[in-house]
Amino acid sequence: MRVLFLAAEAAPIVKVGGLGDVAGSLPFALGRLDPQLDIRLVIPLHGEGSRGNSGLRMVREFQLRTPAGRHQMVAWATIIPDGEVYLIGGDGIKNESPVYQSNAAADAEKYCIFSLAALAFCLEEGWVPEIIHAHDWHTAFALKALRDVHGSNPKMGNTKSILTIHNLPYQGQGAEGVLSRFGLKEATDPILPEWSRGFPLSLGLESADVVTTVSPQYAREIQTKTFGAGLDGYFNRRQQPVVGILNGIDYEEWNPASDVALMRKYDLQCIPDRRENKLQLQQELGFGANSSIPLLAMIGRVDAQKGVGTAISALRGLKDAPWRAVFLGTGDPSLEEELNAFAAENPMRVRALLKYDRDLAHHIYGGADMLLVPSRYEPCGLTQMIGMRYGCIPIATPVGGLVDTILDEASNPGRGTGFLAASGDDAGVRSAVQTALALFRSRAKWRKLQERAMRQDFSWQRSAADYRALYLSLIAPGYPEAGNRVHS
Ligand code: ADP
Repeated sequence: MRVLFLAAEAAPIVKVGGLGDVAGSLPFALGRLDPQLDIRLVIPLHGEGSRGNSGLRMVREFQLRTPAGRHQMVAWATIIPDGEVYLIGGDGIKNESPVYQSNAAADAEKYCIFSLAALAFCLEEGWVPEIIHAHDWHTAFALKALRDVHGSNPKMGNTKSILTIHNLPYQGQGAEGVLSRFGLKEATDPILPEWSRGFPLSLGLESADVVTTVSPQYAREIQTKTFGAGLDGYFNRRQQPVVGILNGIDYEEWNPASDVALMRKYDLQCIPDRRENKLQLQQELGFGANSSIPLLAMIGRVDAQKGVGTAISALRGLKDAPWRAVFLGTGDPSLEEELNAFAAENPMRVRALLKYDRDLAHHIYGGADMLLVPSRYEPCGLTQMIGMRYGCIPIATPVGGLVDTILDEASNPGRGTGFLAASGDDAGVRSAVQTALALFRSRAKWRKLQERAMRQDFSWQRSAADYRALYLSLIAPGYPEAGNRVHS
């Protein structure tokens, strides 16, 4: 079965957030699960991907013809530890351009050309996908082109398509201006709100044979006004429900027993060894060594979605409790400023490291005691799963994939794997942090909690099986397992 897997980013070549983790690991997990699956992962040649590109092998130069003209494109390939990745560059895709600019309008042409070029590349190669699996608005153009432009072409006329939504509010607002230039029409599905019909995500929603999102809980939540980003009515009326398949994490990259970034590797049998990582991390952060003061951490985009303000407010409300905190991330300048101010107010106990730092992220997962994940909404969330794998206990809001992955210790004493706040507001998160700080004082109970968290299985194995079943259900509709395996 040939599957074309299209995404804006894929780790370790280019990674901005969770989509990079997913695209860099899911296709290879699928390949390991079923050697019959011939999956080609294709991303644009941009961001860090173009740096030090000596490992890139040119596959072919080709021309993309659109109503806007003839575009000279180049397809490259490179080998990463898990397998091969294709990168497309050329007219409209600048090597040095960042993966995402601040608004979709600025990125629209790049992603439209990329999406169309990826299809043209397959035809040039004589490699006709049976399924195109696109991710988010950036590559949704491909599904519209598949239906409207290639639909009557005998080569791709039978190709099926899947759109996976990783973050619903990002619909490509502002990108509608490029459609007509590239021969694409707005969506016409009458149940899509009129204002959304030119957005690339809507083109994908209308064209895809199946729409999925990255956790079962988020699949339910997007049908509500709070989380539907204006499309809740559409999701309610859509005939085919959105399928929720939980993301996994890459168990090679995220493994405390073999993590070369850690000063001290450890596993379930020697959790106390984490202490050395904590001491080293404290030194790296300029804190005095102290293993008994709980060290909280937050890793991720500095964005309103991630609840940065909630975290600050919750900790401000716990001034008298012993704790230290480190924030690692970049993003919204005004929220970055708030983090800086919070760190300046608390020089002895708060650090704000406003940068992207892969190694430091590993040090934090391997040394911090608790991971704050106070997201306003969270399609899946990876940091809480990585945290649990490292025995860094998540304290999270009860939304999306956080609900699907964390069992709250406060309401399930002796069985939990982390802490889920009763509500997503500042007070709810403050109270969850308070509960976690109290439990931390009982070393034995905390150790058991860490053991349970570390024992969870967040590997891609199960989710990859769900995606495989979904693929099979599209090209072999009678396939018995498919409908049963996929949760929605
Ligand atoms: P997103 O909504 O950004 O996709 P996720 O929780 O799904 O959030 O994934 C975030 C991923 O990016 C995790 O692997 C996390 O460790 C990583 N990450 C985020 N910010 C940073 C940073 N500043 N430095 C290093 N890694 C980061």
